[in-house]
Amino acid sequence: MYDQYNRKIEYMRISITDRCNLNCTYCKGFDALTHNDILRYEEILDICKVAVQLGIGYFKITGGEPCARKGYLSFIESLKKMDGVHEVTITTNASLLKKEDMDTLKRIGIDGINVSLDTLDKECYKEITGKDCIDLVVHNILYMKSIGLHVKINSVLLDETRDEEFLNLIDFGNLHSIPIRFIERMPMKDDKVSHRTKKDILSLLDNVEIDKNKYGNGPASYYQTNRGTVGFIEPVHGKFCDQCNRIRLTSTGYLKACLFHKDGMNVRNRTNLEDMMKEIIYNKPQGHDFEKDMAGISMSKIGG
Ligand code: SAM
Repeated sequence: MYDQYNRKIEYMRISITDRCNLNCTYCKGFDALTHNDILRYEEILDICKVAVQLGIGYFKITGGEPCARKGYLSFIESLKKMDGVHEVTITTNASLLKKEDMDTLKRIGIDGINVSLDTLDKECYKEITGKDCIDLVVHNILYMKSIGLHVKINSVLLDETRDEEFLNLIDFGNLHSIPIRFIERMPMKDDKVSHRTKKDILSLLDNVEIDKNKYGNGPASYYQTNRGTVGFIEPVHGKFCDQCNRIRLTSTGYLKACLFHKDGMNVRNRTNLEDMMKEIIYNKPQGHDFEKDMAGISMSKIGG
């Protein structure tokens, strides 16, 4: 379905939990909900059925940390089997995945896995996330790649990250043919945005040329460089709201059309779900206002 600004809305991000086993300095996923507050998987699937009828065929499973919720693999399998669903992908910190989970993701045909990884430096990773598990994360990324899963790395442009760490991430991605995308930090619950931008990262590289290839459904732009391919997602300095094709379902059943705005409605147990969803989509705000203000809620609560 199209919204009032003629944007085709076809992508839904579903947060299945706001709990996270990491506690990233800029995200904070620790003040978790009790299990009763969050939607049951059956409720989420019912909401997805209606979404599919409205033309939404692409789903991203997120959180909190989606792999922290029991039963997430069966849920993904059910969603994958739903008529009208084109793609189901997941975004994870990859620290809770066991070999059998990754094998299951492969078997059920997950269409893509985004791994969030802000540094490869052991100490810096621990400082950012509060956990000493970088080796496991890297191991899991490489295992997923080895069994043919489509893995991408998302890395938030943090001011405290050293240039060398950015370069190491770019080299790691290119060595293993894993697309790496740097994402500007958005002012969610504090006043910080990335002061570092795409320009700063590209200035560390040589022979930079725009790469017009599309490597997914998202708003990333890619560049070819002397160290290989590097992607960027610039919600603040390269605002792409005019191309935004997504809505978000929070783990408590709140359907939001914009990360920034306090729009949306609780769609839990609604008999008029289709009408509500149409209204939310149609009235999707024209754009965020991160230039002027912050969202006032942490990413882990909405589902980043
Ligand atoms: N735990 C999962 C993961 O790590 O991918 C899913 C949820 S996490 C909130 C999703 C993504 O949002 C992560 O890549 C995280 O780095 C990013 N994120 C959190 N806060 C952010 C912010 N203020 N600006 C930009 N990205 C943010």
